[in-house]
Amino acid sequence: MSDTLTLQADVIVVGSGPGGATVSRQLARGGKKVLLLERGIDYRPKSYYGTYLGALIYSDRASLLFTQEGLNIVRPLMIGGATSMYCGCAAPPPAWLKGKYFVDIDAEVSAAREELELAPLPLELCGQASTRIAQAGQALGYNWQPQMKFMKPSRVAKFDCGAKCMLGCRCGAKWNAAEWVDQAVEASAELRTRARVERVLHEDGHVTGVVGLIAGQPFTAHADTVILSAGGIGTPRILQASGLEGAGQGMTMDVTVMVYGFIKERGIGNEPPMTWSWENLEVGYMLSTLIDPWLLYPIITALKGLRYPLYWPKWNNILGVMIKLKDEVSGGVFPNGKISKPLTVDDRLRLKMAEKVCRDILIEAGARPDNIFMTPLRGTHPSGTVRIGEMLDQDLQTGIRGLYVCDASTFPEALARPTVLTIIGLGMRLAKHLLV
Ligand SMILES: Cc1cc2nc3c(=O)[nH]c(=O)nc-3n(C[C@H](O)[C@H](O)[C@H](O)COP(=O)(O)OP(=O)(O)OC[C@H]3O[C@@H](n4cnc5c(N)ncnc54)[C@H](O)[C@@H]3O)c2cc1C
Repeated sequence: MSDTLTLQADVIVVGSGPGGATVSRQLARGGKKVLLLERGIDYRPKSYYGTYLGALIYSDRASLLFTQEGLNIVRPLMIGGATSMYCGCAAPPPAWLKGKYFVDIDAEVSAAREELELAPLPLELCGQASTRIAQAGQALGYNWQPQMKFMKPSRVAKFDCGAKCMLGCRCGAKWNAAEWVDQAVEASAELRTRARVERVLHEDGHVTGVVGLIAGQPFTAHADTVILSAGGIGTPRILQASGLEGAGQGMTMDVTVMVYGFIKERGIGNEPPMTWSWENLEVGYMLSTLIDPWLLYPIITALKGLRYPLYWPKWNNILGVMIKLKDEVSGGVFPNGKISKPLTVDDRLRLKMAEKVCRDILIEAGARPDNIFMTPLRGTHPSGTVRIGEMLDQDLQTGIRGLYVCDASTFPEALARPTVLTIIGLGMRLAKHLLV
């Protein structure tokens, strides 16, 4: 008897982040037999979900995943993917996605906005210190606006959001793609956790299935349609192992830093993250209100230099402005397991311009100029590794018939804004395309 488990479906979806959850739910509701394969497990019922211990357990290499250049990547591996640790921000797709790449997801994004009732938090919940930053920005002529959120205070009896949201949502106000995985299963999708896909099977230019390990046991799954939604790092790795060597050549990250200043009054740590934002589309960056969770603050700032963790006792007095840079495509995810994300000369120049604006805003908001500083680079949006227009057509299909990609890998350029709503839009549109 063979030790290899054999599975069969109409459609195999690999990965249960917003891309995989959306496309699985829509296809299952449309009557397809969907097999959803997720390498992680469902951590929501665990007592440590949403704690510092949890964040160590469910993110790749206990959150100590670094590129060759030392950029820290946060990569949650679990049901719901990175929406289990995101800040719950929603942004429409950038205009260039339709204008330059002819990918029109307006109808799907509108449907998602309506279904999830996306809106900014009521002003009284945006946080006093966060609003102070936004007002300082406005006073300097930058048009800061309340940030649309996947957070809905009415979902919970006690709304309790703060910098800690990035460990996982414990109060329940924040939407997580895991909820759409639940709905996919209700609509009869078969979900397998601890299922790590290694490569795609294809014959004569057509996909036939995937192989990998489920809880350490080899498996083969057969389907005429396979959708890779394993994220900006996972998807190119699977494609490379399947013989598509162009995957992972170059990547985008929306490279992120925080610029911190200190005030005498209470700072933004215990306020919901990213309640106010401003985008500089001309230069290519987004600013928002955010700081690191309390226990992560000294660890992250130690990477900059030993004097910075000494500000830890002042965590409650921090004003933080996050920069998300529209980084150029560079580096990549390589078959030897390495990840590279160098900043280009132009990226560095634009980051400096953004840092100067943050400094000015923090000073305007009352921070002392002498201890304002910028944290080391990090990346929470690994993306653009299997780009539309290069490896994918406008329907997200690869050069292998029946093999699609539906996740952050598909972005042809850095979004430099929250990604999830765009990914949901892509997932809904792909499902419509496959159900015709
Ligand atoms: C701290 C943090 C804050 C963020 N804040 C925001 C925000 O406020 N708003 C926003 O829009 N975005 C935010 N993001 C980014 C956003 O969450 C991600 O860009 C988005 O979740 C990517 O979706 P995805 O479907 O591409 O992949 P992911 O969400 O990464 O999901 C991929 C899934 O595939 C699984 N997988 C990987 N490899 C395999 C394999 N070989 N076999 C089977 N399964 C596999 C993984 O376990 C994972 O569950 C944030 C991200 C982080 C980390």
